[in-house]
Amino acid sequence: MKKSMIVTGGSRGIGAAVARLAAQRGYAVCIAYRSDAEAAASVVEDIVTHGGVALAVKADTGVEADVRRLFDAAQAAFGPIDALVNNAGILEQQARVEAIDAARLSRVFGTNVIGVFLCSAEAVRRMSTKHGGRGGSIVNVSSRASRLGSPGEYVDYAASKAAVDTLTIGLAKEVATEGIRVNAVSPGLIHTEIHARGGEPGRVDRLAKGVPMQRGGTAEEVAAAVLWLASDEATYCTGSNIDVAGGR
Ligand code: NAP
Repeated sequence: MKKSMIVTGGSRGIGAAVARLAAQRGYAVCIAYRSDAEAAASVVEDIVTHGGVALAVKADTGVEADVRRLFDAAQAAFGPIDALVNNAGILEQQARVEAIDAARLSRVFGTNVIGVFLCSAEAVRRMSTKHGGRGGSIVNVSSRASRLGSPGEYVDYAASKAAVDTLTIGLAKEVATEGIRVNAVSPGLIHTEIHARGGEPGRVDRLAKGVPMQRGGTAEEVAAAVLWLASDEATYCTGSNIDVAGGR
């Protein structure tokens, strides 16, 4: 039977690249999306056209019942889940801290922190040898922002990614003897639609001159690191966090 992977936020950007590469590497892939059914369906269609196995499930990672339904659907289709990629993440319009209100903090932390906790908890309940599972791998998509802070843009987003870094370390230690590895990748400036959602479509090109490699990265470059951490080539890595940021 094929290995299986859940990729949250797999309908666009980095998540879609992870889903496509995972399918190429032989995983049956379940992608979760929140709103854009058409984008999710086109990733699934692309994977299936190339001979892979994929499924899309509408699930908001910040909602417990949705997360349970997502894992149930993936398990019903593919059997026990081998890997979870916590990729779904959002940011909002560029703003200074004094302009950020509680509603915005709830939205950003709801997806970026609560969503990653809920999906990780569901994965542990199903993967942990302590609960009768057969182990697995969790890869969190954090951000270089957690250490750069994103001043004047989205300190809330950066702080939410710092929480992801800490979850990665703590959970990795918590389940280290239960067959589960927990790691993270921290992308730098990557060409995806997320920057337009923050109000500046050309942000990567504007900031590229501050990157030692003098360019933004691609979703595929991030996906390669995610797949390596999930794979059996990384069996002694847990609690690791790989920067994919061109030296920035
Ligand atoms: P993106 O192009 O905006 O895609 C975000 C994806 O997440 C979409 O598939 C979206 O689905 C999904 N999503 C958002 N909220 C969700 C929720 N609550 N439940 C389920 N799915 C949800 O973003 P991206 O640039 O690929 O970013 C992916 C990850 O990389 C994020 O965690 C981001 O913080 C991180 N990252 C990105 C960069 C960068 O420069 N691009 C740098 C560092 C880190 P819908 O369209 O259906 O809402």
